[in-house]
Amino acid sequence: MKVYIMTDMEGVSGLADPGMCEQDASEACFEGRRLLAGDVNAAIEGALRGGAEEIVVCDGHGGGGNLRAEDIISPAKLTKPNGFANYLNGMDATFEACFLIGAHAMAGTAGAFMPHTQSARDWKEYAVNGRPLGEIGQLAILAGDYDVPVALVTGDSFAVKEARDLLGEAVATVSVKHTAAGGRVQCLALDAARKLIVDAARGALNKIKNMKPHKLSLPATVTLKFYSPDVARRWAETTGTALSDSVTMTFTADSAEKILSQFSPSR
Ligand SMILES: [Zn+2]
Repeated sequence: MKVYIMTDMEGVSGLADPGMCEQDASEACFEGRRLLAGDVNAAIEGALRGGAEEIVVCDGHGGGGNLRAEDIISPAKLTKPNGFANYLNGMDATFEACFLIGAHAMAGTAGAFMPHTQSARDWKEYAVNGRPLGEIGQLAILAGDYDVPVALVTGDSFAVKEARDLLGEAVATVSVKHTAAGGRVQCLALDAARKLIVDAARGALNKIKNMKPHKLSLPATVTLKFYSPDVARRWAETTGTALSDSVTMTFTADSAEKILSQFSPSR
């Protein structure tokens, strides 16, 4: 069995400081990377216990560079996204399950830890066929295009809720932290969080036959609202996409891949 693990950082266990998601070679950044590796290795260990033989880890946060091959345990192999054009780099129909580790809630999710959809600064709302989606939804569609179900999502309680709302009760989830009223993040102890991830990964593969790929009905209408008209104009120009109003790009995706590859400037 082959398992694809897509990683992000905002939803990693023990990560309670936005500085730990930076890629600035600060002490906090390296601490964030150590925490990320801990969750990824828990997912690998659980996948192996659940029968995985081949595992690909895609280092998704900020385009990659957060994990080194020495950080992950064998037999997993490490890759990273190839921009918007090929987000789930190396994914194909030979995989049986996709895990989303360290996931975060979509832009605008009140109370969530660092919610955003791609660009926290510029993207206000991304929607497919009228339904607002975050990165969890996008990745489920991209994996679903290869008939691969998202079998496990780990992240904060809001990311987990978003995953279950979209993918249904069959998806295995681990909530590793919660933001209480007043904005204080409460993280599970690392040993507890990682044990839950090991168990959930193993459990997800044991019931993989019950999980369905998330299929997109095509052609799909994709809208992206920006905060600023200037930024909207710039994105529209670089990607050759029309604006339907001063802050909204709208396009038709005739393939699942295009829901993100449309934003690739190299198109
Ligand atoms: Zn991220």
